[in-house]
Amino acid sequence: MLFDKPMPYWNDHHQRLQQEIRTFVEHVATPIWHSRLPHDERFPWAARVAAAKVGLTGIDLSPAYGGRNADFVSQGIAFEECGRLDIDARELIGSGHGAIIARHGSPDLKEHWLPRIIRGEALIGVGITEEEAGSDIRSMKTMISSNGNCYAVHGKKSYISRINEAAAFIIFGKTHPDDTHLSAILVDTQNNPAIERTEIPTMGVRGWSYGSITIHDDCVPKENMLGVIDEGFSIFEEHFSNWRIFMALLCLGAAAASMHEVIAYSQTRYSFNSPIAKFQSIMFAIAESMSAIYTARLLCYQSLWLKDNGYDNATEAAMSKLVAVKIAFDAVNGALQIMGARGYTNQYFFEKRLRDIRGFMIADGTNEIMKSIISKDIFGKDMYNTMIGRGRKYE
Ligand SMILES: Cc1cc2nc3c(=O)[nH]c(=O)nc-3n(C[C@H](O)[C@H](O)[C@H](O)COP(=O)(O)OP(=O)(O)OC[C@H]3O[C@@H](n4cnc5c(N)ncnc54)[C@H](O)[C@@H]3O)c2cc1C
Repeated sequence: MLFDKPMPYWNDHHQRLQQEIRTFVEHVATPIWHSRLPHDERFPWAARVAAAKVGLTGIDLSPAYGGRNADFVSQGIAFEECGRLDIDARELIGSGHGAIIARHGSPDLKEHWLPRIIRGEALIGVGITEEEAGSDIRSMKTMISSNGNCYAVHGKKSYISRINEAAAFIIFGKTHPDDTHLSAILVDTQNNPAIERTEIPTMGVRGWSYGSITIHDDCVPKENMLGVIDEGFSIFEEHFSNWRIFMALLCLGAAAASMHEVIAYSQTRYSFNSPIAKFQSIMFAIAESMSAIYTARLLCYQSLWLKDNGYDNATEAAMSKLVAVKIAFDAVNGALQIMGARGYTNQYFFEKRLRDIRGFMIADGTNEIMKSIISKDIFGKDMYNTMIGRGRKYE
């Protein structure tokens, strides 16, 4: 396949890792996926346990905890390969948002959580969004107030993923109500009477529960503070820059799988006594999608390569998510069209991929916020803030 050719950003190790993960996904994860009941879209936890057994759940973590210290390009490869199986397979490999604990947690916190993540026993969620604070995250109301030996955490996080599955949440909040600084703290949400969950059904990404969690004055140990107090925004920016590229590659993996399936189908489906692939409109639609996916992959791996080589990649990460998710959505939509009526049914993956990919035009920063990040880099922060009429508090 076109996408299996060597990439300038990959070395032999990356090539071998791709093969290892592809083999695992095809021979181990896929049968587990298909063993679910029909129409059950929930993530099969047994697949993550199987990934743990072959050392894939902690690829991004330190060998001190049983991880492999994989670079960002390697992690991108993992997400792309998982996307070929299912967008909901994004928690199959690696530590996910647990990477924030690895980077910013105290030694005790790491000791407690990282081995559990690597063994496939625990998963970490992130709580940023609130009912009245989405894109404008600095206007959030959740409070993290010092109270003797602990921090009292109080607030409600809405429209967030993994509300039932995550064993703990990285909660972003403020130490002073009028401040724009944020802090990030790890809240253990398992069997915690201070936590109230409300599920909300979604259009896609149904592999993971979604909704709100309310934290009623939970007394969280001081050592659960991640990084420096009031400097949580830099944790958010650093983590989500990379995460956005991972989600872009996840969607491109789903798009590549769709192309693979539709290329085969178009050569065996006959219409007017001819395989439909012989119609130029079909052939060209596939050629255009393949070209777009190829281009977007290069941008994503370039962005990860920049990070691996010590460059800031926040703008390239925003470009990657903005461009790649749209390309993936259009490619899957085009593939569904070529599949005809079959593509519209839930007997094939096209409709699910479309529902799932759509979510990433909103999740982890909307398309418009990605354009804002890119514009800031082009025009400078001052001019950007003046253009959108933003006051000094954000400078
Ligand atoms: C599938 C999915 C999973 C999610 N998972 C999580 C999670 O695990 N944790 C979590 O904390 N959150 C999660 N979210 C929430 C997500 O991060 C927010 O939805 C997102 O940040 C946007 O916030 P909002 O929905 O409140 O939209 P708003 O911020 O209210 O924006 C509404 C519209 O206005 C536009 N807009 C806003 N500000 C500007 C601006 N300055 N310039 C131009 N346009 C603007 C937006 O782009 C959007 O189109 C998830 C969302 C989805 C869809």
